[in-house]
Amino acid sequence: MYAAFHEVVGNVSRTVKHYKQLLARPVVGVMPAYFPMEMIEAAGGYPVQLWGNNLPIHHADSHLQVFCCSVARSILELELSGKAEMVDAYAFTSLCDTLINLREIYRGLFSKPTLELSMPITQTAEARRTYLRSVLETVTRGLESITGKSITDDSLKKAAQVHGYTRELQRELYQIRREKPGLIKNHDFYSVMKAGFFLPRQVYNTMLESLLDGLRNASAPSGKRIKIIHTGLVFDPIQIYTMLDKYEIDIVDDDMANGWRSASKGELKVSHLVEGVAEYLYNPAPCCCLYNPERDRHTYLVDKVKKAGADGVLFWYVNFCEPDAFDTPQLVARLKEEHIPSTSIDIELTMTNFDAIETRINAFREMLGG
Ligand code: SF4
Repeated sequence: MYAAFHEVVGNVSRTVKHYKQLLARPVVGVMPAYFPMEMIEAAGGYPVQLWGNNLPIHHADSHLQVFCCSVARSILELELSGKAEMVDAYAFTSLCDTLINLREIYRGLFSKPTLELSMPITQTAEARRTYLRSVLETVTRGLESITGKSITDDSLKKAAQVHGYTRELQRELYQIRREKPGLIKNHDFYSVMKAGFFLPRQVYNTMLESLLDGLRNASAPSGKRIKIIHTGLVFDPIQIYTMLDKYEIDIVDDDMANGWRSASKGELKVSHLVEGVAEYLYNPAPCCCLYNPERDRHTYLVDKVKKAGADGVLFWYVNFCEPDAFDTPQLVARLKEEHIPSTSIDIELTMTNFDAIETRINAFREMLGG
């Protein structure tokens, strides 16, 4: 049922090269996160999401401090070590200072085109729209020069539909997991999500449809199981999920930037692109990287735990990620007020030894009564 997804995740480079040849489209590497990939698709590109990888770092440390997050360092390593030859251009967002600087490093070191969706930090929705208007014009021109094709109303509409449909299917998968804890193993679930970073939409959508067909009438395992939610930026390294599976801890929902925070987004409204992208970026899930005074992360997380019937929260912290670190103490305090247990694990995407994490997970299981 999950073999095809695991195959993609285990052979990312081969997968992207294969579909690049098949589609004859330039590959645009999307640096995390929230770049509306519909625009790349509408311009005739093949968007591939780069959320970091587990390559050992040999070259990137010459350009980025070792106290930069492993997301940025491992992505840079990909290009520096010549393993990103199938990527033709890069699309960044201004999600954090590290990513903003990373684009400048790419501009200095490589000749591949880069563009940036600069995200507004403003007090009002109107100011946000004004800022986004000019950003989107630049992004559109940049994409069109990469692909040599124009973004039209029709191509945008089609792209919005196909990407919106992906997220709709992913939301159904999340719902099945919430309603039937243990039915989908943690490692399988996040392999399915991760495969979506690299596959063309139509291919991925067909795979998701057939997976959901097999899951809709399946039953959850019986007996009391420990249910948790995890929160953070990047849901890797996925090897950790095999430990959670081993201890029969079921993740029943998540608050990950490349998980639910992305999958929860509705179809991009392209009839008014500025409005559509503003809504797409800031809704519905709040994020530590997006300034949005209208969305309170604390209440949001507590509600999420209650709705999923989770026993606790696991903070999945990518080392040195400042936006995530700044929010965590207040989130932990709020969970405490609500008597919701939590713990934290520190992640490096390049890590190979998971012993300390396993100890922490096992301790959390005992804390939750497992
Ligand atoms: S993990 Fe944090 S610091 Fe690193 S790129 Fe993502 S948001 Fe920025």
